[in-house]
Amino acid sequence: MPDPQQLLHTLKEYFGYDSFRPLQEKIIDSVFSGNDNLVIMPTGGGKSICFQLPALLLPGVTLVISPLIALMKDQVDGLLANGIQAAFINSSQTENEQQDIYTKISSKEIKLLYIAPESLSFLDAVLSQIEVSLIAIDEAHCISSWGHDFRPAYTQLGYLKNRFPKTPVIALTATADKATRQDICNQLNIIDAKQHLASFDRANLSLEVRPGNKRIEQIIDFLKDKPNDCGIIYCLSRKTTEMLVEKLKSQGFNAEAYHAGIDHHKRSQVQEGFINDTVQIVCATVAFGMGIDKSNVRWVIHYNLPKNIEGYYQEIGRAGRDGLPSSTLLFHSYADVVQLQKFANTSGNQEVQLAKLDRMKQYADSLSCRRKILLSYFGELIEEDCGNCDVCKNPPLFIDGTIIAQKALSTVARIKEQEPMGTVIDILRGAQNTTTLDKGYQNVKTYGIGKDIAWKDWQQYIIQLINQGYLEIAFHQNNKLKLTTLSKKILFDSEKISLAHLQEFEKIKQANIEQ
Ligand code: ADP
Ligand code: ZN
Repeated sequence: MPDPQQLLHTLKEYFGYDSFRPLQEKIIDSVFSGNDNLVIMPTGGGKSICFQLPALLLPGVTLVISPLIALMKDQVDGLLANGIQAAFINSSQTENEQQDIYTKISSKEIKLLYIAPESLSFLDAVLSQIEVSLIAIDEAHCISSWGHDFRPAYTQLGYLKNRFPKTPVIALTATADKATRQDICNQLNIIDAKQHLASFDRANLSLEVRPGNKRIEQIIDFLKDKPNDCGIIYCLSRKTTEMLVEKLKSQGFNAEAYHAGIDHHKRSQVQEGFINDTVQIVCATVAFGMGIDKSNVRWVIHYNLPKNIEGYYQEIGRAGRDGLPSSTLLFHSYADVVQLQKFANTSGNQEVQLAKLDRMKQYADSLSCRRKILLSYFGELIEEDCGNCDVCKNPPLFIDGTIIAQKALSTVARIKEQEPMGTVIDILRGAQNTTTLDKGYQNVKTYGIGKDIAWKDWQQYIIQLINQGYLEIAFHQNNKLKLTTLSKKILFDSEKISLAHLQEFEKIKQANIEQ
């Protein structure tokens, strides 16, 4: 086990940094202690060091499983430039190139070996001849069909722990809700993994949501006071990116489109141009930005509603990596919601996708601090409002919501967290339908105590409670409402809470529909 001095020395020598970021050192210690680890850190948080640095000090090879063949070369080139012996193996190489790498591995010339999950089975014979000291699984959420970026090849990775039972595994991801995290550990056979959850708070990013009417005018207006700042506009369709580029160019902006329909050469040109500040604005579909390490992106706009909070958070996270103030703007339109619902309905796990979309919509509709919602989605509860989102800057009218919250939370508690929102509202309102009566909910003590509040108002109040972290939706258990650690404060400590006046919702809805 290396001492702290040695770790710092290696950090400086190979990576040029003077100190560790929060959690990095603790994670590295845990790797050296032989634990399996699950690291959840936002994009740009500094996950790579957590396996690259141990790789340098461990006796054998560190295998790095990474899904993005296109990025492997860049990653390996970066390491080589720092004097770190690294190589990659994937399907883009010739047999000779691969043979070359096998030879280097056998003669212990390689410390870090990047592999695509698809290539693992070919490597089996090679792996049995070498000492594997650490197995790093990057973008680990790809293993879970509950995550937002499922890759079938990842499901084979569970075998690694059986094959190398004594070798520690470190799985890393930027985006995983609680259920996905558990799924990752189960599938990788690392159920005792130490979980390291870094803060997802990116206080330098301002958050703003606006109704999606006259989006182009709004964007041009938004850009007027940022003439030289570079940024990304995410769109749902290729067509929209092209249309936007044309409009922006006609207004004198330096903008380019980026999507999967553009040929490879042109795409890398756009990417290079953006990195080198010769392209100011990129209008892109979701594919853009993966693996781009550009620190001075000053703003990110979502022209369309993203399909889930994970994706949204990852995309806005590409702004302000240098820590300087940066703006994000999301346009919210019900037409987008309908479109995304259609997509979700044709996807494999439609229920989960729809529930996630619902959560995204609730975020956009919210009248409470948006950062609280984002962070609570990732399991991080903050007590104070952020002061850097549109709701905090321009707060709606609030009412004392303590009694409303007590009624809702005690109902959820009494039915043992076994029902989704709709049934909870039915119970609160004393509905006499088959769901409530068949299960005997008329005998629940709170049955009917919320008769005075209309069904759709209850819905809005409960969404606010979810957004403030007092309730959560168990996506993987039929969307049942669950209590959180904050719920106790309301139920047992009589904490007071505020809820937004419902007329405010009506205003927002109206604005979103009128477009
Ligand atoms: P992630 O994989 O979590 O998205 P990276 O590992 O790519 O993040 O790191 C993001 C950026 O932070 C990179 O530019 C990296 O060089 C830098 N970085 C990582 N660790 C440190 C550190 N301890 N001190 C300073 N910069 C760091
Ligand atoms: Zn806020």
